[in-house]
Amino acid sequence: MKLAILILVFLSIFPMNINAQTAEEFAAAWDKNHVSNILPSNVRHKDLQKYLENLKKLGVKVDEVGRSYAGREIHQIEWGKGATKIFMWSQMHGDEPTATSALVDMFTFLQNNRDKLAWVKKLENSVTIRAVPMLNPDGAELYQRRNLQGIDINRDARNLQTPEGRLLKKLRDEWKPEIGFNLHNQNPLTTVGKTPKQAAISLLAVSGNPKGATYAGHERNKRICSLMIAALDKFIAGHIGRYDDEYNPRAFGDRISEWGTPVILIETGALHGRDEMFLVKMNFIANLTALQSIVDGSEKRADAKVYENLPFNNSGNLYSFLFRKANIINYAESEIPFVGDVAINAERRCAETLSPVFVQEIGDLSVFSGLEEYDVSDYFLVSKTGRLKIGSPGEFLFYKKSRVIDWKAKDLEKKYAPDAVFSNGKWTKPLPPKASLKS
Ligand SMILES: [Zn+2]
Repeated sequence: MKLAILILVFLSIFPMNINAQTAEEFAAAWDKNHVSNILPSNVRHKDLQKYLENLKKLGVKVDEVGRSYAGREIHQIEWGKGATKIFMWSQMHGDEPTATSALVDMFTFLQNNRDKLAWVKKLENSVTIRAVPMLNPDGAELYQRRNLQGIDINRDARNLQTPEGRLLKKLRDEWKPEIGFNLHNQNPLTTVGKTPKQAAISLLAVSGNPKGATYAGHERNKRICSLMIAALDKFIAGHIGRYDDEYNPRAFGDRISEWGTPVILIETGALHGRDEMFLVKMNFIANLTALQSIVDGSEKRADAKVYENLPFNNSGNLYSFLFRKANIINYAESEIPFVGDVAINAERRCAETLSPVFVQEIGDLSVFSGLEEYDVSDYFLVSKTGRLKIGSPGEFLFYKKSRVIDWKAKDLEKKYAPDAVFSNGKWTKPLPPKASLKS
Protein backbone atom coordinates (compact mmCIF):
# COMPACT_ATOMS: atom_id res chain seq x y z
CA MET A 1 0.00 0.00 0.00
CA LYS A 2 2.79 2.37 0.99
CA LEU A 3 4.61 1.50 -2.17
CA ALA A 4 1.49 2.20 -4.23
CA ILE A 5 1.18 5.65 -2.63
CA LEU A 6 4.85 6.33 -3.27
CA ILE A 7 4.40 5.40 -6.93
CA LEU A 8 1.34 7.65 -7.18
CA VAL A 9 3.25 10.56 -5.64
CA PHE A 10 6.16 9.92 -7.97
CA LEU A 11 3.88 9.80 -11.01
CA SER A 12 2.17 13.03 -10.06
CA ILE A 13 5.50 14.82 -9.72
CA PHE A 14 7.03 13.30 -12.84
CA PRO A 15 4.02 12.61 -15.02
CA MET A 16 6.01 12.34 -18.24
CA ASN A 17 9.52 12.20 -19.52
CA ILE A 18 10.19 15.88 -20.10
CA ASN A 19 13.56 15.49 -21.79
CA ALA A 20 14.12 15.38 -25.50
CA GLN A 21 14.69 11.88 -26.74
CA THR A 22 18.02 10.86 -28.19
CA ALA A 23 18.57 8.94 -31.40
CA GLU A 24 19.56 5.93 -29.31
CA GLU A 25 16.25 6.12 -27.47
CA PHE A 26 14.34 6.27 -30.75
CA ALA A 27 16.30 3.23 -31.91
CA ALA A 28 15.52 1.34 -28.71
CA ALA A 29 11.85 2.28 -28.99
CA TRP A 30 11.77 0.97 -32.55
CA ASP A 31 13.57 -2.26 -31.59
CA LYS A 32 11.05 -2.88 -28.85
CA ASN A 33 7.77 -1.76 -30.36
CA HIS A 34 7.87 -1.52 -34.15
CA VAL A 35 4.77 -2.91 -35.78
CA SER A 36 5.95 -3.20 -39.38
CA ASN A 37 6.82 -6.87 -39.52
CA ILE A 38 7.22 -7.59 -43.24
CA LEU A 39 10.36 -6.72 -45.20
CA PRO A 40 9.35 -3.44 -46.90
CA SER A 41 9.97 -4.76 -50.41
CA ASN A 42 7.48 -7.54 -49.70
CA VAL A 43 4.75 -5.16 -48.50
CA ARG A 44 1.91 -5.13 -51.00
CA HIS A 45 -1.20 -2.93 -50.97
CA LYS A 46 -3.19 -5.44 -48.89
CA ASP A 47 -0.39 -5.54 -46.30
CA LEU A 48 -0.44 -1.76 -46.05
CA GLN A 49 -4.21 -1.88 -45.60
CA LYS A 50 -3.70 -4.22 -42.62
CA TYR A 51 -1.15 -1.84 -41.13
CA LEU A 52 -3.61 1.03 -41.59
CA GLU A 53 -6.47 -0.95 -40.00
CA ASN A 54 -4.27 -1.37 -36.93
CA LEU A 55 -3.52 2.35 -36.85
CA LYS A 56 -7.26 3.04 -36.98
CA LYS A 57 -7.79 0.67 -34.05
CA LEU A 58 -5.32 2.80 -32.08
CA GLY A 59 -7.47 5.83 -32.83
CA VAL A 60 -5.43 7.34 -35.67
CA LYS A 61 -7.41 8.99 -38.45
CA VAL A 62 -6.96 7.18 -41.77
CA ASP A 63 -9.02 8.09 -44.84
CA GLU A 64 -9.17 7.02 -48.43
CA VAL A 65 -8.28 10.15 -50.38
CA GLY A 66 -8.08 8.81 -53.92
CA ARG A 67 -7.57 5.89 -56.24
CA SER A 68 -4.70 4.70 -58.38
CA TYR A 69 -4.94 4.19 -62.14
CA ALA A 70 -6.00 0.57 -61.49
CA GLY A 71 -8.47 1.67 -58.83
CA ARG A 72 -6.50 0.78 -55.70
CA GLU A 73 -7.30 2.91 -52.65
CA ILE A 74 -4.77 5.57 -51.69
CA HIS A 75 -4.91 6.57 -48.04
CA GLN A 76 -3.94 9.54 -45.96
CA ILE A 77 -3.04 9.28 -42.30
CA GLU A 78 -3.66 12.32 -40.11
CA TRP A 79 -2.28 12.86 -36.64
CA GLY A 80 -2.11 15.86 -34.31
CA LYS A 81 -4.29 18.94 -33.88
CA GLY A 82 -1.83 21.81 -34.03
CA ALA A 83 -1.36 24.71 -36.37
CA THR A 84 1.89 23.74 -38.11
CA LYS A 85 1.11 21.55 -41.11
CA ILE A 86 3.52 18.78 -42.08
CA PHE A 87 2.94 16.67 -45.19
CA MET A 88 4.73 13.40 -45.92
CA TRP A 89 4.38 10.98 -48.82
CA SER A 90 6.17 7.74 -49.61
CA GLN A 91 6.61 5.24 -52.43
CA MET A 92 5.57 7.37 -55.40
CA HIS A 93 8.02 4.95 -57.00
CA GLY A 94 6.54 1.50 -56.47
CA ASP A 95 9.88 -0.21 -55.87
CA GLU A 96 10.97 2.30 -53.20
CA PRO A 97 9.21 0.97 -50.11
CA THR A 98 11.32 1.60 -46.97
CA ALA A 99 9.61 4.78 -45.79
CA THR A 100 6.12 3.30 -46.06
CA SER A 101 6.89 0.88 -43.24
CA ALA A 102 8.71 3.61 -41.31
CA LEU A 103 5.63 5.87 -41.47
CA VAL A 104 3.47 3.10 -40.02
CA ASP A 105 5.95 2.65 -37.17
CA MET A 106 6.21 6.41 -36.67
CA PHE A 107 2.46 7.00 -36.32
CA THR A 108 2.12 3.99 -34.03
CA PHE A 109 4.88 5.43 -31.83
CA LEU A 110 3.34 8.91 -31.77
CA GLN A 111 -0.14 7.65 -30.99
CA ASN A 112 1.07 5.31 -28.23
CA ASN A 113 3.22 7.95 -26.56
CA ARG A 114 0.87 10.94 -26.53
CA ASP A 115 0.36 10.58 -22.80
CA LYS A 116 3.77 9.20 -21.96
CA LEU A 117 6.23 11.60 -23.54
CA ALA A 118 5.93 15.34 -23.05
CA TRP A 119 7.43 16.18 -26.43
CA VAL A 120 4.93 13.95 -28.21
CA LYS A 121 2.07 15.64 -26.33
CA LYS A 122 3.45 19.01 -27.33
CA LEU A 123 3.83 17.80 -30.89
CA GLU A 124 0.23 16.65 -30.94
CA ASN A 125 -0.90 20.10 -29.85
CA SER A 126 1.35 22.10 -32.13
CA VAL A 127 1.43 20.23 -35.46
CA THR A 128 -0.87 18.32 -37.74
CA ILE A 129 0.84 15.65 -39.81
CA ARG A 130 -0.75 14.25 -42.93
CA ALA A 131 0.98 11.36 -44.67
CA VAL A 132 0.23 9.38 -47.80
CA PRO A 133 2.00 6.04 -47.53
CA MET A 134 2.42 4.20 -50.85
CA LEU A 135 1.26 6.89 -53.28
CA ASN A 136 1.83 4.40 -56.13
CA PRO A 137 0.10 1.17 -55.00
CA ASP A 138 -0.07 -0.23 -58.56
CA GLY A 139 3.69 0.12 -58.92
CA ALA A 140 4.18 -1.36 -55.45
CA GLU A 141 2.06 -4.37 -56.43
CA LEU A 142 4.41 -5.15 -59.33
CA TYR A 143 7.48 -3.81 -57.52
CA GLN A 144 8.18 -1.40 -60.34
CA ARG A 145 9.10 2.28 -60.36
CA ARG A 146 6.33 3.54 -62.64
CA ASN A 147 2.57 3.52 -62.31
CA LEU A 148 0.35 1.35 -64.49
CA GLN A 149 0.29 3.94 -67.29
CA GLY A 150 4.04 3.41 -67.54
CA ILE A 151 4.60 6.97 -66.34
CA ASP A 152 7.18 7.94 -63.74
CA ILE A 153 4.90 9.87 -61.36
CA ASN A 154 7.88 11.95 -60.29
CA ARG A 155 8.19 13.31 -63.83
CA ASP A 156 4.49 14.16 -64.02
CA ALA A 157 4.39 17.26 -61.81
CA ARG A 158 3.86 19.49 -64.86
CA ASN A 159 1.63 17.37 -67.12
CA LEU A 160 -0.42 15.80 -64.33
CA GLN A 161 -1.55 12.87 -66.44
CA THR A 162 -1.35 10.31 -63.61
CA PRO A 163 -4.19 10.08 -61.06
CA GLU A 164 -1.54 9.60 -58.36
CA GLY A 165 0.32 12.79 -59.33
CA ARG A 166 -2.89 14.79 -59.57
CA LEU A 167 -3.89 13.54 -56.11
CA LEU A 168 -0.56 14.55 -54.60
CA LYS A 169 -0.87 18.04 -56.04
CA LYS A 170 -4.48 18.37 -54.90
CA LEU A 171 -3.67 17.26 -51.33
CA ARG A 172 -0.87 19.82 -51.19
CA ASP A 173 -2.73 22.67 -52.84
CA GLU A 174 -5.88 22.32 -50.75
CA TRP A 175 -3.99 22.14 -47.45
CA LYS A 176 -0.87 24.27 -48.08
CA PRO A 177 1.46 22.57 -45.57
CA GLU A 178 4.56 24.34 -44.25
CA ILE A 179 6.96 21.39 -44.64
CA GLY A 180 6.97 18.42 -46.99
CA PHE A 181 8.81 15.11 -46.68
CA ASN A 182 9.33 13.31 -49.99
CA LEU A 183 10.36 9.73 -49.23
CA HIS A 184 12.22 7.53 -51.71
CA ASN A 185 14.83 4.80 -52.18
CA GLN A 186 18.00 5.21 -54.25
CA ASN A 187 20.30 2.76 -56.02
CA PRO A 188 21.99 0.54 -53.37
CA LEU A 189 25.35 1.14 -55.09
CA THR A 190 25.16 4.91 -54.54
CA THR A 191 28.26 6.05 -52.65
CA VAL A 192 29.19 9.00 -50.45
CA GLY A 193 31.46 11.54 -52.12
CA LYS A 194 34.77 10.02 -53.20
CA THR A 195 34.56 7.18 -50.70
CA PRO A 196 33.54 3.61 -51.61
CA LYS A 197 31.01 3.76 -48.76
CA GLN A 198 27.39 3.06 -49.60
CA ALA A 199 25.00 5.97 -49.01
CA ALA A 200 22.55 4.26 -46.66
CA ILE A 201 20.60 7.50 -46.38
CA SER A 202 20.85 10.62 -48.53
CA LEU A 203 19.18 13.91 -47.77
CA LEU A 204 18.26 16.98 -49.73
CA ALA A 205 16.73 20.23 -48.54
CA VAL A 206 15.01 21.02 -51.82
CA SER A 207 15.15 24.63 -52.92
CA GLY A 208 12.58 24.35 -55.70
CA ASN A 209 13.86 27.61 -57.10
CA PRO A 210 14.99 27.18 -60.72
CA LYS A 211 18.12 29.17 -59.92
CA GLY A 212 18.68 27.38 -56.60
CA ALA A 213 18.00 30.49 -54.52
CA THR A 214 17.47 29.96 -50.82
CA TYR A 215 14.75 31.32 -48.51
CA ALA A 216 13.59 30.93 -44.91
CA GLY A 217 11.76 27.59 -45.28
CA HIS A 218 14.67 26.15 -47.23
CA GLU A 219 17.15 27.26 -44.55
CA ARG A 220 14.93 25.76 -41.85
CA ASN A 221 14.89 22.46 -43.73
CA LYS A 222 18.70 22.50 -43.98
CA ARG A 223 18.88 22.86 -40.21
CA ILE A 224 16.42 19.98 -39.76
CA CYS A 225 18.59 17.91 -42.12
CA SER A 226 21.64 18.75 -39.96
CA LEU A 227 19.89 17.31 -36.92
CA MET A 228 18.82 14.19 -38.82
CA ILE A 229 22.44 13.71 -39.91
CA ALA A 230 23.68 14.06 -36.32
CA ALA A 231 21.14 11.47 -35.18
CA LEU A 232 21.90 9.01 -37.99
CA ASP A 233 25.65 9.48 -37.52
CA LYS A 234 25.38 7.43 -34.36
CA PHE A 235 24.47 4.39 -36.44
CA ILE A 236 25.71 4.90 -39.99
CA ALA A 237 28.55 7.44 -39.77
CA GLY A 238 30.18 7.94 -43.16
CA HIS A 239 27.19 6.39 -44.91
CA ILE A 240 25.11 9.56 -45.27
CA GLY A 241 25.14 11.49 -48.55
CA ARG A 242 23.70 14.66 -49.96
CA TYR A 243 21.37 14.17 -52.91
CA ASP A 244 21.92 16.06 -56.15
CA ASP A 245 20.01 19.36 -55.95
CA GLU A 246 19.58 20.18 -59.63
CA TYR A 247 16.16 21.70 -60.29
CA ASN A 248 13.81 19.49 -62.31
CA PRO A 249 10.59 21.17 -63.45
CA ARG A 250 8.86 17.78 -63.86
CA ALA A 251 9.67 16.48 -60.36
CA PHE A 252 7.31 16.85 -57.42
CA GLY A 253 9.99 17.58 -54.81
CA ASP A 254 11.03 20.68 -56.73
CA ARG A 255 7.56 21.80 -57.70
CA ILE A 256 5.97 21.27 -54.28
CA SER A 257 8.77 23.39 -52.79
CA GLU A 258 8.14 26.00 -55.47
CA TRP A 259 4.38 25.92 -54.83
CA GLY A 260 5.02 26.89 -51.20
CA THR A 261 5.79 23.73 -49.24
CA PRO A 262 9.59 23.45 -48.84
CA VAL A 263 10.47 19.79 -49.15
CA ILE A 264 13.01 17.55 -47.46
CA LEU A 265 13.92 14.57 -49.61
CA ILE A 266 14.97 11.41 -47.81
CA GLU A 267 16.47 8.74 -50.04
CA THR A 268 17.14 5.34 -48.53
CA GLY A 269 19.96 3.36 -50.10
CA ALA A 270 21.41 0.15 -48.71
CA LEU A 271 24.08 -0.98 -46.30
CA HIS A 272 25.90 -4.23 -47.02
CA GLY A 273 25.28 -6.75 -44.26
CA ARG A 274 22.21 -4.93 -42.96
CA ASP A 275 18.69 -5.88 -43.94
CA GLU A 276 15.77 -3.71 -45.00
CA MET A 277 14.37 -3.50 -41.46
CA PHE A 278 17.52 -1.75 -40.26
CA LEU A 279 16.85 0.94 -42.85
CA VAL A 280 13.24 1.24 -41.66
CA LYS A 281 14.72 1.96 -38.24
CA MET A 282 17.02 4.63 -39.71
CA ASN A 283 13.98 6.29 -41.37
CA PHE A 284 12.05 6.09 -38.11
CA ILE A 285 14.91 7.81 -36.25
CA ALA A 286 15.27 10.48 -38.94
CA ASN A 287 11.53 11.24 -39.00
CA LEU A 288 11.14 11.49 -35.24
CA THR A 289 14.32 13.56 -34.93
CA ALA A 290 12.90 16.00 -37.47
CA LEU A 291 9.51 16.21 -35.74
CA GLN A 292 11.05 16.63 -32.30
CA SER A 293 13.31 19.40 -33.55
CA ILE A 294 10.31 21.32 -34.85
CA VAL A 295 8.52 21.17 -31.55
CA ASP A 296 11.36 21.56 -29.04
CA GLY A 297 12.97 24.50 -30.83
CA SER A 298 16.28 22.71 -31.46
CA GLU A 299 15.79 23.25 -35.18
CA LYS A 300 16.29 26.99 -34.66
CA ARG A 301 19.63 26.45 -32.94
CA ALA A 302 20.96 23.85 -35.38
CA ASP A 303 23.84 24.58 -37.72
CA ALA A 304 22.97 24.27 -41.42
CA LYS A 305 26.67 23.71 -42.14
CA VAL A 306 26.46 20.09 -40.98
CA TYR A 307 24.11 19.53 -43.91
CA GLU A 308 25.94 21.82 -46.30
CA ASN A 309 29.24 20.03 -45.67
CA LEU A 310 27.81 16.60 -46.37
CA PRO A 311 29.52 15.01 -49.40
CA PHE A 312 27.32 14.61 -52.47
CA ASN A 313 26.07 11.25 -53.69
CA ASN A 314 28.25 9.53 -56.23
CA SER A 315 27.65 6.62 -58.58
CA GLY A 316 29.64 4.23 -60.73
CA ASN A 317 32.46 3.58 -58.24
CA LEU A 318 31.02 0.59 -56.48
CA TYR A 319 29.96 -2.81 -57.76
CA SER A 320 28.11 -5.67 -56.10
CA PHE A 321 30.97 -8.15 -56.70
CA LEU A 322 34.54 -7.58 -57.86
CA PHE A 323 36.84 -10.43 -58.90
CA ARG A 324 40.38 -9.10 -58.94
CA LYS A 325 43.18 -10.19 -61.29
CA ALA A 326 41.30 -13.10 -62.82
CA ASN A 327 42.95 -15.20 -65.53
CA ILE A 328 40.10 -14.99 -67.97
CA ILE A 329 39.55 -17.69 -70.58
CA ASN A 330 36.94 -17.16 -73.29
CA TYR A 331 37.20 -20.70 -74.56
CA ALA A 332 34.51 -20.08 -77.19
CA GLU A 333 37.00 -17.68 -78.81
CA SER A 334 40.48 -18.53 -77.60
CA GLU A 335 42.31 -20.64 -75.06
CA ILE A 336 44.86 -17.98 -74.25
CA PRO A 337 44.19 -16.37 -70.87
CA PHE A 338 44.38 -12.66 -70.18
CA VAL A 339 44.40 -10.92 -66.82
CA GLY A 340 41.53 -8.65 -65.84
CA ASP A 341 39.23 -7.61 -63.03
CA VAL A 342 35.59 -8.54 -63.46
CA ALA A 343 32.74 -6.56 -61.90
CA ILE A 344 29.17 -7.71 -61.69
CA ASN A 345 26.09 -6.02 -60.29
CA ALA A 346 22.95 -7.46 -58.79
CA GLU A 347 19.73 -5.86 -59.96
CA ARG A 348 17.34 -4.63 -57.31
CA ARG A 349 14.45 -6.97 -56.69
CA CYS A 350 12.02 -7.40 -53.84
CA ALA A 351 13.20 -9.67 -51.06
CA GLU A 352 11.14 -12.65 -52.20
CA THR A 353 12.76 -12.69 -55.67
CA LEU A 354 16.32 -13.64 -56.52
CA SER A 355 18.25 -10.65 -57.91
CA PRO A 356 19.70 -11.37 -61.35
CA VAL A 357 23.39 -10.52 -61.69
CA PHE A 358 25.07 -9.28 -64.83
CA VAL A 359 28.65 -8.63 -65.91
CA GLN A 360 29.13 -4.88 -65.70
CA GLU A 361 32.80 -4.24 -66.45
CA ILE A 362 35.98 -6.11 -67.46
CA GLY A 363 39.58 -4.86 -67.33
CA ASP A 364 41.62 -2.70 -64.96
CA LEU A 365 39.12 -1.93 -62.21
CA SER A 366 41.73 -1.23 -59.54
CA VAL A 367 40.28 2.23 -58.90
CA PHE A 368 36.84 0.82 -58.05
CA SER A 369 35.42 -1.14 -55.13
CA GLY A 370 33.05 -4.03 -54.64
CA LEU A 371 30.70 -4.77 -51.80
CA GLU A 372 32.31 -8.19 -51.99
CA GLU A 373 35.79 -8.58 -53.44
CA TYR A 374 37.83 -11.67 -54.26
CA ASP A 375 41.47 -12.11 -55.21
CA VAL A 376 41.29 -14.70 -57.99
CA SER A 377 44.83 -14.25 -59.30
CA ASP A 378 45.47 -17.97 -58.68
CA TYR A 379 42.48 -19.00 -60.80
CA PHE A 380 41.20 -19.21 -64.31
CA LEU A 381 37.80 -17.52 -64.54
CA VAL A 382 35.49 -19.02 -67.16
CA SER A 383 32.02 -17.83 -67.97
CA LYS A 384 29.56 -20.72 -68.27
CA THR A 385 28.74 -19.44 -71.75
CA GLY A 386 32.39 -19.71 -72.78
CA ARG A 387 32.62 -16.01 -73.42
CA LEU A 388 32.70 -13.30 -70.80
CA LYS A 389 30.64 -10.42 -72.07
CA ILE A 390 29.23 -7.17 -70.69
CA GLY A 391 25.60 -7.80 -69.83
CA SER A 392 25.92 -11.58 -69.71
CA PRO A 393 24.75 -13.36 -66.53
CA GLY A 394 27.36 -13.64 -63.78
CA GLU A 395 27.79 -17.42 -63.93
CA PHE A 396 31.45 -18.33 -63.41
CA LEU A 397 33.58 -21.42 -63.03
CA PHE A 398 36.97 -21.10 -61.32
CA TYR A 399 39.89 -23.47 -61.94
CA LYS A 400 43.22 -23.37 -60.13
CA LYS A 401 45.89 -21.96 -62.45
CA SER A 402 48.09 -25.00 -61.83
CA ARG A 403 45.57 -27.34 -63.44
CA VAL A 404 45.84 -28.50 -67.02
CA ILE A 405 42.45 -28.20 -68.64
CA ASP A 406 41.33 -29.01 -72.15
CA TRP A 407 39.15 -25.96 -72.68
CA LYS A 408 37.65 -27.47 -75.80
CA ALA A 409 36.33 -30.48 -73.87
CA LYS A 410 32.63 -31.15 -74.22
CA ASP A 411 30.78 -30.82 -70.90
CA LEU A 412 33.72 -28.92 -69.45
CA GLU A 413 32.14 -28.67 -66.02
CA LYS A 414 31.50 -32.44 -65.86
CA LYS A 415 34.88 -33.52 -67.17
CA TYR A 416 36.84 -31.05 -65.07
CA ALA A 417 35.18 -30.34 -61.74
CA PRO A 418 35.68 -26.65 -61.03
CA ASP A 419 37.42 -25.56 -57.82
CA ALA A 420 34.74 -22.95 -57.22
CA VAL A 421 31.41 -21.96 -58.80
CA PHE A 422 29.71 -18.58 -58.63
CA SER A 423 26.11 -18.60 -59.77
CA ASN A 424 23.32 -16.02 -59.54
CA GLY A 425 25.14 -13.91 -56.98
CA LYS A 426 25.99 -16.87 -54.74
CA TRP A 427 28.89 -19.26 -54.29
CA THR A 428 27.43 -22.69 -54.97
CA LYS A 429 30.97 -23.99 -54.44
CA PRO A 430 33.00 -21.40 -52.55
CA LEU A 431 36.55 -20.25 -53.05
CA PRO A 432 38.87 -20.85 -50.08
CA PRO A 433 38.35 -18.07 -47.49
CA LYS A 434 41.78 -16.56 -48.14
CA ALA A 435 40.59 -15.43 -51.59
CA SER A 436 37.97 -13.23 -50.02
CA LEU A 437 39.25 -9.67 -49.73
CA LYS A 438 35.98 -8.23 -48.54
CA SER A 439 32.65 -9.89 -47.92
ZN1 LIG B 1 12.22 7.56 -56.18
